[in-house]
Amino acid sequence: MIQSVRADITTLAVDAIVNAANETLLGGGGVDGAIHRAAGPELLATCRRLGGCRTGEACITPGFRLAAKWVIHTVGPVWRGGKYHEPQLLESCYRNVFDIALQRRVRTIAFPAISTGVYGYPKDQAAQIALTAARAYENRFDLIILCSYSDQDKAIYDALLVSR
Ligand code: ADP
Repeated sequence: MIQSVRADITTLAVDAIVNAANETLLGGGGVDGAIHRAAGPELLATCRRLGGCRTGEACITPGFRLAAKWVIHTVGPVWRGGKYHEPQLLESCYRNVFDIALQRRVRTIAFPAISTGVYGYPKDQAAQIALTAARAYENRFDLIILCSYSDQDKAIYDALLVSR
């Protein structure tokens, strides 16, 4: 099942939450900052040992103080107009996160709207990519949450979900 939810992703009691990280994995603003604050300092220490992550790729850490057992970190593309492989890179984020989640036997997972904050990806286009990926993996999970941080952002997913 795919669900559109408006929430602070750090509060969700799912097996894994996804972090829209940057290539350093050393924390940042937005959802990344919120996840690091909620998970506690062990998360930063663990991320430091991973030594970074390339755009489009993903890696996993424990959730430490979060309700979620795991955090799967992925680095979305910075939007540069759409001619620099941004769609392929964003698709690759979702695919790589799902593949890592399957390896760890994750059954419930929540995604923020990767790249749609500071990285500037157009929200409608990003939501299409998120939903297409979620539908491709839907059968292999109990619950895939597409988590929005505002009612306006949630409305974008809701509109796409009804037009199935
Ligand atoms: P990026 O650098 O990938 O654009 P941001 O963190 O700036 O990442 O934004 C990604 C999305 O996460 C945005 O839609 C933003 O509104 C949302 N967001 C920010 N904080 C949270 C949070 N605590 N829970 C869920 N979503 C959040």
